[in-house]
Amino acid sequence: MRLPVGAPGGKGRSVARTLLRLPLRLARYLLVFLVVLAIATTIAVWVSGDDEFTYSPPDTLVNDVTLMNPTYVSRVIQPTTVEEVVAALQSTTGPVSIGGGRYSQGGQISWPGSLHLDMRRFDKVLALDEARKRITVQAGITWHRIQEQIAPRGLAIRIMQTYSNFTVGGSLSVNVHGRYIGEGPLVRSVESIKLVLADGSVVEASPTTNSELFYGAIGGYGGLGVIVEATLNLTDDTNIERRQDVMPVSEYRQFFARHIRDNREVVFHNADLYPPDFDTARQVSWHRTDKPLTIEDGLIPAGADYSWQPRIADWVGSTDSGKWARRHVIDPLLYVRNPVVRRNREASYDVAELEPESREEFTYGLREYFVPVERFDEFVERMRDIFARHDANVMNVSVRHALPDPGTLLAWARNEVFAFVVYYRQGRTPEEVATVRDWSLEMIDAATALGGAYYPPYQVFESPEQFHAAFPRDQEYFALKARVDPDNRFRNRLLQRIYPGNHEPLEATRSANDNYHRGEAQTFLTVPEWYLVFNPVEYAQYLESGGNPATFPFFSSIDEYWRLYDRVTTIARQSGYPRNGEYLTMLRVIGISTTAEYLVKGAYEGSIGRLFRWSASGEDTAEDQLIARAQRAYADFIFDTAWYEFDFGDWVGRMWGDTRFFGRHFLRKLERRLFFTAEFGIKAGYAKLIGFASRTAYGKNHDRIYLTVTAPADDAELPAGVTMVQAEGREQIVSTLRWGPFTEAAVALARSGYGFRDVSGNHRIVVSTVGPRNAGLVIDGATELFESRLVSNDTQMRRVLLVDVGRLTGVLDALPRMGARLEHIYDY
Ligand SMILES: Cc1cc2nc3c(=O)[nH]c(=O)nc-3n(C[C@H](O)[C@H](O)[C@H](O)COP(=O)(O)OP(=O)(O)OC[C@H]3O[C@@H](n4cnc5c(N)ncnc54)[C@H](O)[C@@H]3O)c2cc1C
Repeated sequence: MRLPVGAPGGKGRSVARTLLRLPLRLARYLLVFLVVLAIATTIAVWVSGDDEFTYSPPDTLVNDVTLMNPTYVSRVIQPTTVEEVVAALQSTTGPVSIGGGRYSQGGQISWPGSLHLDMRRFDKVLALDEARKRITVQAGITWHRIQEQIAPRGLAIRIMQTYSNFTVGGSLSVNVHGRYIGEGPLVRSVESIKLVLADGSVVEASPTTNSELFYGAIGGYGGLGVIVEATLNLTDDTNIERRQDVMPVSEYRQFFARHIRDNREVVFHNADLYPPDFDTARQVSWHRTDKPLTIEDGLIPAGADYSWQPRIADWVGSTDSGKWARRHVIDPLLYVRNPVVRRNREASYDVAELEPESREEFTYGLREYFVPVERFDEFVERMRDIFARHDANVMNVSVRHALPDPGTLLAWARNEVFAFVVYYRQGRTPEEVATVRDWSLEMIDAATALGGAYYPPYQVFESPEQFHAAFPRDQEYFALKARVDPDNRFRNRLLQRIYPGNHEPLEATRSANDNYHRGEAQTFLTVPEWYLVFNPVEYAQYLESGGNPATFPFFSSIDEYWRLYDRVTTIARQSGYPRNGEYLTMLRVIGISTTAEYLVKGAYEGSIGRLFRWSASGEDTAEDQLIARAQRAYADFIFDTAWYEFDFGDWVGRMWGDTRFFGRHFLRKLERRLFFTAEFGIKAGYAKLIGFASRTAYGKNHDRIYLTVTAPADDAELPAGVTMVQAEGREQIVSTLRWGPFTEAAVALARSGYGFRDVSGNHRIVVSTVGPRNAGLVIDGATELFESRLVSNDTQMRRVLLVDVGRLTGVLDALPRMGARLEHIYDY
């Protein structure tokens, strides 16, 4: 009797039972999978790795307060005398960058490969004339150090910023301003400066002597020379009392005109406009008073503890509720009293009160716009619209006032202006930087359209045209620079953008190519990913030489991966590179899946595999040999292609087609066959999944890398695999395939006598070498970052080096002489 399918008691019943059990079976597999994954994750997070690893970036890695502009310079000197500055300029010929307090935010202090003058030790008071209220200082001194000396004598600085951490030289070069009433740009309080020019000559400049240099160097962003000394006006330190009012922003201009502008009693004044509507202004003014002090300390001490302020700033910066609370709760409470303090105290704030715990993912920035006083309301209107459209994360806009500039070439106050100081929070991903760029550029256009300007010490986004619209005398400044710095030695990232002398044709090509520049952090971060190439190479070599898979150190390989991961992430963090969350997630995903794979493989090979190998008297079967060939093919393949493109299925087919089923050591043969089929079969499925995910998430990877090289001769021929993009004499932009082929191309270029100027716009690149365990490597232009074990070979050691791109040719040349083999050059 034929039983209907599904009827109990027959074949149908057993199918039904199987179907019913399927979820149970799947659940069991899932459970095993989850347990393995949990163990792998535990190992990754708690067991493996190198928590002890520490890294201090070299002092040649120069950065600013935002940590957004890490730049390797060639050398840093910290002069303490004018003679040392002169000697530094006369004994060198290349580019020079100058750093003060490092609070500018767009690379105004640095230039790759430059000689960097770190002025922070150039910090003496040279003369103090109390009667004439004037002080002469070395330019690297901070306002706070000056205040410490003049406050006890009843004197105060006439014009400076709100915070006192800035150096005099950095402030002069930006021509800063504060919240003073009846004042304006810093130049108004400068009697004279002393400059060291590019050729090492020392000149005095004042409004009457070398006035062009005086008005060019002040506000000149270090482009004309090094300001070494300055003589500044001082004023009396007085008691001041705070008063405040809240009003609709539409009433502010009239309030200012009536009560503040000509009020000689007001020392400091500003108005805070609250996001997101910017419709309310809180004016805060400090009036001279005879009342006794409510806070006795004449200065805010340097190095005070600010633990809660950054937390509040973080809350305000990251949430709408924080912004609401600041406006409706925090500020009203903060301003409930009318304290009486010394003027010096109100001018001695420490930027530490703003410093967040970490700037790895988020940073805080400033931008500033200046508009003629009569255009105030129009600008507020435009600003509100721009911020709303871009959903800008603005925490505060502080309005200040400035009288006109007496004549600096790059004056931001060509007339009487209100300054809009915008304080905002931003993430560090390229998308978030682009958002800030977009609103910043619109704000520049809005300000210049109203006859105003913007402030250039912040992130550099502007075009030369926008700079010109804001600073119409820029051509006079550029002509002066060409005269006093004919070899264009004084450089930085702002000048690079605006100064026509920097506009080489190759630079235009580099900027126009979206694929030219790649983040420098990647040269470090790709090290663990490449370990998953080199470890399979080790495994393939091990198998090829007849090694027993049961004794391959899978567990040490896992540990080595996580050690590399910990080390490079520490280096990237300590170097101040933006956190590449997406890439780190990818490293964790491949790390955990490799850990799971090696755990299973290690456990299997060490037990069952070992037993079957023993059954074959330790001999390789044809299946063992095929596995060795497959592992070698995989190791070779992933050298220049993503692993998930490898044809695992094809190798499973070969296992079944190319080896005889029966034969000597049948048990081992069968075991290898099944083991390999399972391993490569699972990998084939996983590879499809990852390949699909990665194509969906990233699209097609751009597979070329661009670099600028110097040819040994005009007619030198490029090595195979290297393509010319553009040549300007011997300076050439070329491109090669990324990953493995890049290493080969770089070696070929070096052998043909080419020098490297930059790779993907970067001046440092990571290189790994393999050499005898106990022979250290000392090579000019390379610094050892750390050593990494070759897990299957005790006599050899991998050394991971950070190489100056400009000296890459020499380093590659030196390696064989030092007995080391080049393993890889890590493109970005
Ligand atoms: C929290 C914060 C608050 C701020 N508040 C204000 C404010 O209230 N008002 C205001 O106007 N600005 C303000 N700024 C901007 C700040 O004033 C400028 O960035 C200023 O340049 C910082 O001084 P610095 O010593 O850090 O200069 P750096 O950033 O070190 O240098 C700035 C520029 O000056 C050049 N330079 C430095 N020293 C010399 C030298 N000796 N000779 C020649 N060139 C030199 C550098 O090459 C660079 O181009 C603020 C910035 C921050 C981060």
